[in-house]
Amino acid sequence: MTTYRNLIDGVWSDSDSGETFENRNPADRDDLIGRFQKSTRSDVQRAIDAAHRAYASWRLVPAPRRAELLFRAAQLIAERKDALARDMTREMGKVLAETRGDVQEAIDMTFFIAGEGRRQYGQTVPSELPDKFAMSIRQPIGVCGIITPWNFPMAIPSWKIIPALVCGNTVVLKPAMLTPLSAVNFVEILVEAGIPSGVVNLVTGGGEDVGAELTTAPQVSVVSFTGSTTVGRTVALSAAPSFKKVHLEMGGKNVIMIMEDANLDLAVDGCLWGGFGTTGQRCTAASRVVVHENVYRAFLDRFVARARGLTVGDGLDPSVQMGPSVSQAQLDTVMRYVEIGRSEGARLVAGGHPLTAGAHAKGYFHEPTIFADVAPTMRIAQEEIFGPVVSVIPCTSFDDAIRIGNGVQYGLSASIYTQDVNKAFAAMRDLYTGIFYVNAPTIGAEVHLPFGGTKSTGNGHREAGTVALDVFSEWKSVYIDFSGRLQRAQIDTTELPA
Ligand code: NAD
Repeated sequence: MTTYRNLIDGVWSDSDSGETFENRNPADRDDLIGRFQKSTRSDVQRAIDAAHRAYASWRLVPAPRRAELLFRAAQLIAERKDALARDMTREMGKVLAETRGDVQEAIDMTFFIAGEGRRQYGQTVPSELPDKFAMSIRQPIGVCGIITPWNFPMAIPSWKIIPALVCGNTVVLKPAMLTPLSAVNFVEILVEAGIPSGVVNLVTGGGEDVGAELTTAPQVSVVSFTGSTTVGRTVALSAAPSFKKVHLEMGGKNVIMIMEDANLDLAVDGCLWGGFGTTGQRCTAASRVVVHENVYRAFLDRFVARARGLTVGDGLDPSVQMGPSVSQAQLDTVMRYVEIGRSEGARLVAGGHPLTAGAHAKGYFHEPTIFADVAPTMRIAQEEIFGPVVSVIPCTSFDDAIRIGNGVQYGLSASIYTQDVNKAFAAMRDLYTGIFYVNAPTIGAEVHLPFGGTKSTGNGHREAGTVALDVFSEWKSVYIDFSGRLQRAQIDTTELPA
């Protein structure tokens, strides 16, 4: 059994605490994956110091040269995709097809953003004055504290680290305690690709010490966080006194709207994949399905039948369609919300129980669960559960569906199933989310488009796409006067009317 170390200043090292924590397979608690450093604030501070020193030279490496290392990293990830996906399924539980997808997102993001090494366009514009040149350029910002969740253990670190690096920043990564192996695997590849010592540092451990130190340390200039809305609020508050740039991607309660003219077979497929993919543990999971009353019965019957037929088990088994919850705590949350749904008077029409016998005995498994006749105000329709629980809500019209869709605190992703182009465009305009789909579920982002949410899901930034660079760079406006004399801008030279 391996004990994994922190990476600080290019050296794999033990924590000052002398303590480690265990990482176990959520499909089989007996499967101990490894031990990882239970780090302290002093470990984080050493990593920040290393990143700060490395910044002095990394920021001066020409961006196309930085990008060459990233292209090499993308190539290495691609070569090892299968082994990386297997490690991820073991530590996180989602099925192999999904962990391959997670690794593929890291590959796509790294290739895509490495291309920005030769772009990172600024603007050149005419000056108001003669013999003067005016432009604006992107500049790196400094040390970036990167705090990530467990549900996309390689994709999300890549969405943040790669744009940070291509812009010339240095990084300290703190991954979730439930999925540190995928973070170690990713950082090892960056090192192998030639990223210099101190440019990328990795410190494993708890949020309240390792994570919190990244949000308060004066030498950290940017905090990029993905996780729950509750923790995101704490991160924003603790980073505020030192005016760090803070990028937050947080929770979701995403909606699929099914109109009376929808192709119901397609809609059922979308709701299954959107609701139960990754065991419902996606920020973009379709945990609410709003269905027009005229097709409600027909949709529900098919959806329930298909959900009951899903094969739940160890994600390493290719025949399995849905893996376990990631941890006992997550499974407890699912069971608690099933009780809440029952007590609120929602109708439990599929699942509702943990799976504890036979092949499920050693993992955190739960049946795919559907509540029908859910009122939009119920807690199961309002709060993020982050498990295999879908609330089906009847609606009377398109306008009613939009009202229900928007009636939550979150704003990440939404979708409509309809054959009416007018409804599709109106929904695109009126649903206040960062991502929108037509005739497809609420999940499945592509790396070259901006990703993120509104309201309590995000704070106005986006990751992915070229706009990811906006989080990790600042604009500098540059004026070059070659007239050889004093030229005064902002002086009103127009003559006043007589
Ligand atoms: P979490 O908020 O519990 O933890 C996220 C990270 O923050 C972890 O690394 C954790 O250790 C760290 N952390 C905890 N307390 C901290 C503190 N006080 N200071 C600094 N860091 C701290 O979330 P999770 O359970 O790992 O992930 C699930 C959540 O992430 C869900 O709410 C999900 O919707 C959200 N998520 C959002 C997106 C998105 O892009 N919007 C993507 C994936 C997941």
